[in-house]
Amino acid sequence: MATTRPPRAADAHAIADVVRHLGRGGIAVVPTETVYGLAADAASPEAVARVFRAKGRPAANPLIVHVTGQEMAALYAEIPPLAARLMTRFWPGPLTLVLPKRADAPLADAVTAGLATVALRAPDHPVMQAVIAGLGRGVAAPSANVSGRLSPTRAEHVHALDVPLVLDAGPCRLGVESSVLKVDRGRLLLLRPGSLDSATLAEAAGVAVEAPGNAAAAPEAPGMAFRHYAPRLPLDLDVTEPAPGRFLLGFGAIEGDFNLSPAGDVTEAAATLFDALHRAEASGKARIGVAPIPDRGVGAAIRDRLARAAAAAGGTP
Ligand code: AMP
Ligand code: MG
Repeated sequence: MATTRPPRAADAHAIADVVRHLGRGGIAVVPTETVYGLAADAASPEAVARVFRAKGRPAANPLIVHVTGQEMAALYAEIPPLAARLMTRFWPGPLTLVLPKRADAPLADAVTAGLATVALRAPDHPVMQAVIAGLGRGVAAPSANVSGRLSPTRAEHVHALDVPLVLDAGPCRLGVESSVLKVDRGRLLLLRPGSLDSATLAEAAGVAVEAPGNAAAAPEAPGMAFRHYAPRLPLDLDVTEPAPGRFLLGFGAIEGDFNLSPAGDVTEAAATLFDALHRAEASGKARIGVAPIPDRGVGAAIRDRLARAAAAAGGTP
């Protein structure tokens, strides 16, 4: 059984407790602007093993290392000019860069699952920033959910994990995970759509952003080969009519049981998406339906998450 303690308000005292706990090889749940993360000292093999164990995460799925910024990132990866440009523009923020790992990177091997690359992100959240700065080195932090299930965007969503410390800083501002972009000899490959859309990334980089097809992406983005974001109920996409027994997530004029954004704003829908799916799971209904979400901006990442949820839990994609 999970023995997660009740969340603690993320004040300076609680943050200091988390930093001490991580320094001793422990794990803790820490808010970021995207989703809540399950944090561990990325240099500690024992701590990183605890993360994989607590989540039931496959060992072949590497973790993102969270850093305060570009200077700390340089301890772990080679940073080509194109990557430096993206860091300057989007860090701190919801952009994870997959870069060539330095041979002397002080990381537990399991963090990168044996790859020659490492995924790095500087989060834009004062609590996570304080935790990384307090520890003084990179923090490995995947989403704080059981592997394959819904991501947590509120501290109360983190109930199925065995974690001694959970910091609560309210709902996450962005609500979907970071965009994962691989920088590969002047090319940019979007391994996971996320908060930052590819048009914005391409414009800032001055380079096209390629989206590898699913099959081709498997070796590039090990994580995307696994089951993801599955609610406990079958999920139907592009639903426009209410039906008995189905919890409908609305959007814009389609009201539903819970409207992701009455104004039809994809950014607002991203921020409410996982909370709405958690509510749908708890509703007692037999299925979940979701109104059509436009493909513009972060809508592409929302549609990606929903398509994966429908595929993993059954339903109509
Ligand atoms: P999360 O569990 O939400 O933190 O997801 C992290 C994502 O980043 C997963 O899809 C991982 O597979 C991906 N990732 C982490 N490290 C690497 C890497 N070195 N190369 C490619 N993808 C990575
Ligand atoms: Mg995750």
